Amino acid sequence: MSNDGSKILNYTPVSKIDEIVEISRNFFFEKQLKLSHENNPRKKDLEFRQLQLKKLYYAVKDHEEELIDAMYKDFHRNKIESVLNETTKLMNDILHLIEILPKLIKPRRVSDSSPPFMFGKTIVEKISRGSVLIIAPFNFPLLLAFAPLAAALAAGNTIVLKPSELTPHTAVVMENLLTTAGFPDGLIQVVQGAIDETTRLLDCGKFDLIFYTGSPRVGSIVAEKAAKSLTPCVLELGGKSPTFITENFKASNIKIALKRIFFGAFGNSGQICVSPDYLLVHKSIYPKVIKECESVLNEFYPSFDEQTDFTRMIHEPAYKKAVASINSTNGSKIVPSKISINSDTEDLCLVPPTIVYNIGWDDPLMKQENFAPVLPIIEYEDLDETINKIIEEHDTPLVQYIFSDSQTEINRILTRLRSGDCVVGDTVIHVGITDAPFGGIGTSGYGNYGGYYGFNTFSHERTIFKQPYWNDFTLFMRYPPNSAQKEKL
Ligand code: NAD
Repeated sequence: MSNDGSKILNYTPVSKIDEIVEISRNFFFEKQLKLSHENNPRKKDLEFRQLQLKKLYYAVKDHEEELIDAMYKDFHRNKIESVLNETTKLMNDILHLIEILPKLIKPRRVSDSSPPFMFGKTIVEKISRGSVLIIAPFNFPLLLAFAPLAAALAAGNTIVLKPSELTPHTAVVMENLLTTAGFPDGLIQVVQGAIDETTRLLDCGKFDLIFYTGSPRVGSIVAEKAAKSLTPCVLELGGKSPTFITENFKASNIKIALKRIFFGAFGNSGQICVSPDYLLVHKSIYPKVIKECESVLNEFYPSFDEQTDFTRMIHEPAYKKAVASINSTNGSKIVPSKISINSDTEDLCLVPPTIVYNIGWDDPLMKQENFAPVLPIIEYEDLDETINKIIEEHDTPLVQYIFSDSQTEINRILTRLRSGDCVVGDTVIHVGITDAPFGGIGTSGYGNYGGYYGFNTFSHERTIFKQPYWNDFTLFMRYPPNSAQKEKL
């Protein structure tokens, strides 16, 4: 397993980046120029966009095995996880966009019966933003690059895509399939690279939107650079997403709850932005939850060795960081009981799923996003105090998960705790809902996407008001001179 981007990927020369950006802008302006000479530009544009989305769909479908294989090479991602969370989800999203596009692209009529507007016609149309930059993270290297790309295409933009250098095998396959899919030259371009290449893209100040997915630390660098050229950006970031098992949760459902929580906490080796980062359990059921943790963990991972299909940490630094934070905790640990790894886990970048309990808010695992297969569990007594603590320590998470059978308790949490999204009774799967907004709030980001919402993000809403000439007598008030007689009216 190797994921040293610079060895596998041909990084785009920094000196070529300005030219790539220029090509993207020119392609957009030339496309619009051609459209403007059409009899029915909107219909022509719709056909063009749908055709590009179909090309993207078939390119992904035709290269599905290659993509799955590349993700395996990049971080030992097993096939089921890649099919469910990346290729299938992505292809469904693209098909959905193709289907709803005729409706999305249609301008909306607005009526206003006040005198200046009553005889005119107002429509709101969604126009393309122009040339957009999409910067993707490593953890779902295909979906988090191509889902925004599909939304950007649907909205009629030209795109420069910067995949993560930490998943170089996937980045190579993505670039190849985009190059051979039959897109017109200049519509979609890929820049491969790491910090230097991304910095050059950000510094050029020529994009009409930057769509960034990644860590809050880099997110703030992106936003600062975008601000210099007043470029709008969407930031899809991370953070510590809490999960509650409350006082009024049926004990008979604890096992189901834990299965759903572990699915989110240990899937992709915990490298999921919407992973349940830590678990808050009411003291009345805490002992039962802890007891059940062991049996569910062993049911999920009956053996854990070199051959395990458990996804690996993306690289050695991430492995070392995860191990160091697990070692730094003061809590008690639960791991699968049959772990037998004879080779160096550092070479494998393999961290076993680890539950940590008997800890408080001051534990090192409660300080920053874990982004590893570790689930700290905190026992709580008072719900309001616990919510206060979350607000104080890490407000506005990307998502919160609630396992409770009391609507009053659910309302109490939802009313007080702001979050990007919320799921009651499950974890993580909400990202699969086709037409629901996915995005953060506060430090977990701003802007969103997902079906209709993605189309909106990559579009600008423009009001067009058309005034007739015959109704000038209704507008006389606004014309000078402002006589005393007029004031009396
Ligand atoms: P990252 O921020 O390290 O990298 C993301 C992208 O930014 C990569 O393409 C990388 O090349 C580029 N980059 C890195 N450092 C840069 C710099 N100094 N200047 C300019 N560009 C730079 O993120 P990651 O490690 O790939 O992903 C993990 C993080 O992303 C986690 O915090 C996770 O929660 C978050 N995430 C959020 C979402 C979401 O949808 N909200 C989804 C996935 C991941």
